[in-house]
Amino acid sequence: MCGIVGYVGSKQATPVLINGLKKLEYRGYDSAGVAVLSEDSDEILVRKSKGAIKFLEEKIADEVIKGSVGIGHTRWATHGEPSDLNSHPHTNVSGTIAVVHNGIIENYAKLKAYLQDQGVVFKSQTDTEVIAHLINYFYEKTGEIFKAVLETLHRLEGSYALGVICTKYPDRLIAARKESPLIVGLGNGENFIASDVPPFLEYTRDVYYLEQNELAVLYN
Ligand code: GLU
Repeated sequence: MCGIVGYVGSKQATPVLINGLKKLEYRGYDSAGVAVLSEDSDEILVRKSKGAIKFLEEKIADEVIKGSVGIGHTRWATHGEPSDLNSHPHTNVSGTIAVVHNGIIENYAKLKAYLQDQGVVFKSQTDTEVIAHLINYFYEKTGEIFKAVLETLHRLEGSYALGVICTKYPDRLIAARKESPLIVGLGNGENFIASDVPPFLEYTRDVYYLEQNELAVLYN
């Protein structure tokens, strides 16, 4: 199990993500992390820490992470020991795409070997990291993030609930699920994703349970 959250709106995303993660901590406490599309630069700010969410909070306490689109994760490790490096979110090599994942990619070793043959250098031991690199691979081929995610999903075997952000698409968050739960919260000028409803109950009661193999694009 793991917990994922995502936010697209006009609030600062980091506090919304951290508060949401706290409500999902029962799903995993090996590590916690957030990735936010920076308001000030064309980059994704990724902050993560091994252990409980409070360690992540301590790490970012003196920092203002400005951005209103982001994803977060609390991990129950299945592939790769609990560590800062194996914590989610994971990114492509240039850091323009970030992914959080709940589930297990059963064919990750084969996908990883293929990507390594293409010159991709991996940073973690997780199954999840292949997703970020594969989205990048197909983004370079198709030039469109939605198509890139779709092509990636077609290659994944196993279970996933995913949240994806990309610097080239700063107005949106892409979500998808197969076997793992993922719920969309529809707010007023803001939208949410989470593995369970508690993270966004204080913002909206309008929820949509993503169907098996369904993909959603949430805009602010
Ligand atoms: N397989 C991923 C990892 O180990 C996600 C873990 C999970 O969802 O339990 O990082």
